[in-house]
Amino acid sequence: DKFVNIIGAGLAGSEAALQLAQRGVHVRLFEMRPETETDVHRGGDCAELVCSNSLKSTKPESAAGMLKAELAALGSQLIAAAGRSRVDAGGALAVDRDKFSADVTSMVKGNPYIEYRVMCVSDPLDACLGAADATILATGPLTSDALAQWLVDKTGSDNLAFFDAAAPVVMADSLDMDVLFRQSRYEQDAPGDYLNAPFDKESYDAFIAQLVAADRVIKRDFETKDLFQACQPIEEIARKGADAPRFGTCKPVGLTDPATGRRPWAAVQLRAENAQGTAYNLVGFQTNLTFGEQKRVFRMIPGLQNAEFARYGVMHRNTFIQAPRLLDRDLRLRGVDAPVYVAGQLSGTEGYCEAIASGLMCTLFVYAQLKGIQAPLLPVETAFGALLDYATDPATQDYQPMHVNFGILKPLDQHIRNKGMRYAAYAERGSRAMEGYVADIRAKGLL
Ligand code: FAD
Repeated sequence: DKFVNIIGAGLAGSEAALQLAQRGVHVRLFEMRPETETDVHRGGDCAELVCSNSLKSTKPESAAGMLKAELAALGSQLIAAAGRSRVDAGGALAVDRDKFSADVTSMVKGNPYIEYRVMCVSDPLDACLGAADATILATGPLTSDALAQWLVDKTGSDNLAFFDAAAPVVMADSLDMDVLFRQSRYEQDAPGDYLNAPFDKESYDAFIAQLVAADRVIKRDFETKDLFQACQPIEEIARKGADAPRFGTCKPVGLTDPATGRRPWAAVQLRAENAQGTAYNLVGFQTNLTFGEQKRVFRMIPGLQNAEFARYGVMHRNTFIQAPRLLDRDLRLRGVDAPVYVAGQLSGTEGYCEAIASGLMCTLFVYAQLKGIQAPLLPVETAFGALLDYATDPATQDYQPMHVNFGILKPLDQHIRNKGMRYAAYAERGSRAMEGYVADIRAKGLL
């Protein structure tokens, strides 16, 4: 009989455990809660959704919708559970979070192949856990300190990040270029590296009022003070005084709005995230607002009224490894003799469905290892295949956790100008690639 030890019964760990059990593999699943708490989880159930109850869009022509279709095609057990605890949320898959976690917990604890143990693991290769043919680390963004230290010892300190302070990134083709203007400060005549979103006084005041009142992810101040001194969230800056952002990151000096011929009252600057200019970063907008509030409030910025977010800003404890340097394409940790795999947010993906997908993909790789065969890679035309490819490509520099988005998908052979049609073409191409992949892994006995 084969045994796999999984550390962490969050989204990735629970999916991985259920998938392996379904394949007849014995799993020991170690979870530290409720004995050892984290700053964001509330109880002891498996697969707790720590913030929003939304698993995002189900629209087939969206990256989140593509990911859901891919998860369904691979038989994700957590996506099935989400369907059972679904609540009305328009085009999104939102769940009753308690029902969802309770459902996953009873599936996990009722499974004869899964031995569930409450324990905070410091050394995943410690013999006291029981001998295993493979180990999956799925301890998430709030990985316990001792286990994080184990990772540092194995991989080097510059390969593990403990905090994530990132500004939101928006898709270029969702921006209103009639409102934004391209200019670097004091360089009206040069093409300019920045897109500028010009505020007049009225729109600025309205924006700041919403910014300071918006819901934040963490109301308790569990972050270290050092982080906040070094890198203040934009809403904290605004809380010091409505003009504070206007004298800081939103200062309009050196800018002339070609539409008015005048200096704007304030301006948000957007900087290209990649060489192709398909996504832009809101400069200086590190934020702790909930994802829903970011969408609502940042869409008040002129020119961003229809902005689509390739990634939301985050400002929280977020333990993740430098996946491009540390992970093989099959999510196996380099530099460790024993077969240790990493899944979920710790492996550098961002988002609930991404964590589930990562747990599921990890299972396929581990199961292939147990069978002594090679698992095929998820095609890069799929939403999650593109993310895995990006996250485990040694050429990727300064990797930051990311959720699935069209910005990292390989461009279509022929560019389609109409955005809706382009997204539909991405989805169609992805679904064809997925069909081939599913047939392939089925033929290999992995599904
Ligand atoms: P988790 O679901 O956190 O699971 C990891 C598990 O490992 C936990 O149960 C933990 O208790 C356990 N564990 C940790 N260390 C040990 C140890 N040493 N031994 C045993 N068990 C251990 N994503 C979204 O899509 N939408 C959101 O709204 C959203 N909000 C977020 C808000 C915050 C504050 C954070 C930190 C993240 C948020 N994310 C959000 C990102 C991400 O989707 C979630 O963190 C997601 O839960 C990650 O899944 P996971 O399985 O990797 O980790």
